[in-house]
Amino acid sequence: MNAESLEQIKAQLIEQKARLEQDLKDMGFHPGTKAPKTPDFPESGGNSDDDNASEVTTLADEISLGEKLEDELKDTAKAIKSIDDGSYGTCKYCGKPIDEKRLIARPTSSSCIECKKTLTQEA
Ligand SMILES: [Zn+2]
Repeated sequence: MNAESLEQIKAQLIEQKARLEQDLKDMGFHPGTKAPKTPDFPESGGNSDDDNASEVTTLADEISLGEKLEDELKDTAKAIKSIDDGSYGTCKYCGKPIDEKRLIARPTSSSCIECKKTLTQEA
């Protein structure tokens, strides 16, 4: 992969990382810290059983979305790190270079199309 494409992908990843961190912060999560995976919800006034039930549902949804974003954030950070240490763009399963077009379309890819296909078929 040429340096120009790599720079382009890195810029994209850095932007994506910032956006994910911002999304998580907006939701009350604390990305990149050891804080519990629970959003800081403002104390709500009413405390009837009905209120509690709907809060639990919302909280569960927020946590599962937050975990998804945190996973994406982790993948993004990992990709940026691998660009820095020179291992970016190598399939983690077979060690072959990942197709550049695939990386541009999905910069956090860590496996080549062949391995991905094999994995998907198995799943
Ligand atoms: Zn592979």
